[in-house]
Amino acid sequence: MTLRLFNTLSGQLDELVPSDGKALRMYACGPTVYDYGHIGNFRTFLQIDVLRRFLKLTGVPLRHVMNITDVDDKIIRNAAERGLAIGEYTKQYVAAFFEDLDSLRVERPEVIARATEHIPRMVELVEKLAAVGAAYKVDDGSWYFRLSAFPEYGKLSKKDLSGIEDGARVDVDEYEKDSARDFALWKAAKPGETSWETPIGRGRPGWHIECSAMAMEYLGESFDLHTGGEDLMFPHHENEIAQSESVTHKTFARHWMHVRFLLVDGRKMSKSEGNFYTLRDLLLKGYRASAIRMALISVPYRHQLNFTFEGLTEATNAIERLRTFHQRLMSVTVSSGKNVGAGGCSPLQELAEKAQADYMAALANDLNTAEARAPIFELIRAANTAMDRGEFCAGDRDAILKALASFDAVFDVIENRDGEPTQRALAWAEQSGRMADVAPELRASASISDDEINALVAERDVAKKRRDFARADQIRKQLAEQGVIIEDSKEGARWKRK
Ligand code: AMP
Ligand code: ZN
Repeated sequence: MTLRLFNTLSGQLDELVPSDGKALRMYACGPTVYDYGHIGNFRTFLQIDVLRRFLKLTGVPLRHVMNITDVDDKIIRNAAERGLAIGEYTKQYVAAFFEDLDSLRVERPEVIARATEHIPRMVELVEKLAAVGAAYKVDDGSWYFRLSAFPEYGKLSKKDLSGIEDGARVDVDEYEKDSARDFALWKAAKPGETSWETPIGRGRPGWHIECSAMAMEYLGESFDLHTGGEDLMFPHHENEIAQSESVTHKTFARHWMHVRFLLVDGRKMSKSEGNFYTLRDLLLKGYRASAIRMALISVPYRHQLNFTFEGLTEATNAIERLRTFHQRLMSVTVSSGKNVGAGGCSPLQELAEKAQADYMAALANDLNTAEARAPIFELIRAANTAMDRGEFCAGDRDAILKALASFDAVFDVIENRDGEPTQRALAWAEQSGRMADVAPELRASASISDDEINALVAERDVAKKRRDFARADQIRKQLAEQGVIIEDSKEGARWKRK
């Protein structure tokens, strides 16, 4: 099964296959580590995780490279304000970023490349650009890309750049002007700023050159796929293309995937708008990591997603349905009798196979996660009905488990691993004086460990056997106050945190 993915460059759905017949070479623009990431940033990384996991599920080997921008205008400014070296300043945010990815179960790329560890490669690229007349040095020692040297500029974002002013320059890393400018490749050192002594002078790289240099270092001059959030299309990715192709004269990346934004009240979630939530904010409010993952991936990457707390609650309920069903599936007694389908095959098995096929087809069609979810939840409904009626036959369980395994290879929410991210967030809140932000229910449930719950549930079982119902009720009540619900079933008592 081959993935058809929208390609910003061609403007259509293109098949995504490794061009070297071996591994799919992809580059993902990574975080700028000047602060904690917000869940808008994580929507992009989660959607790339969906892509990654689907490719693996269909047997495509991957070579996925992600950069860490650990030097830029904001990092230099913030580190200087705190009197820290930039490495000291970014260290905590790099660690937090990976911790957050782990909480959200985002798989690690094969290669993680830090900008500050690749300065010589960036300098070489500036030298090559200068040699072909596409880079020039200005009086203060900075280097700029000459836009007029690359007539194809604008081919990715399809912006009309007819008004390019020859020689007009911009030296900040991020800008959104429609009229393009010559942009900084290398910024001369200002007094007191972090800088490197290099053959092109003392200074530091611009943001765009980083990604060109590191992508080509690990993936070659021409590779399969480049990804990032929609804001990076212009100017960042346009600039990457210009810098790379001016030197190589080869297509830099054949396929470009851009993830649409996470919005709040119709506006982009961003640090500068002040309308953002970090993952930690939401965990401390009592939302589970799995629900945040589910909410951020369930709307396909080519649609903007409006963030709401109702959306998180919907995701929490969907996961609860999946987990309850999975438990029931593992403990249900198979009825030996009725096999109501045609040709001796139960309709549930056919339904499970169809659900799995529909699920795969929806993902293969431009990673349509919303359409992919639907047949799996329909299957759950049908299986629950069959179980209620005692019509669940031998063979049904395996067929359904197979469909659920494909679902979870991408969604990864069925096994409950929510305790750890929440515990980590609580430990972080304690260290960083954020305990006031912890939801009261979460504080109550954090006050009891899994082992303590198990011990109380076991004590309750004994009390019930002794017919000491007063003690059994007392334990149930105490656990409920600490956010733990006990469910009695034929197989014994089970518990879960609220
Ligand atoms: P940054 O750390 O700002 O370089 O951003 C890391 C990634 O998050 C980039 O791919 C951005 O395009 C992406 N991003 C930033 N804001 C949002 C948002 N509101 N929704 C989705 N992706 C975003
Ligand atoms: Zn980049």
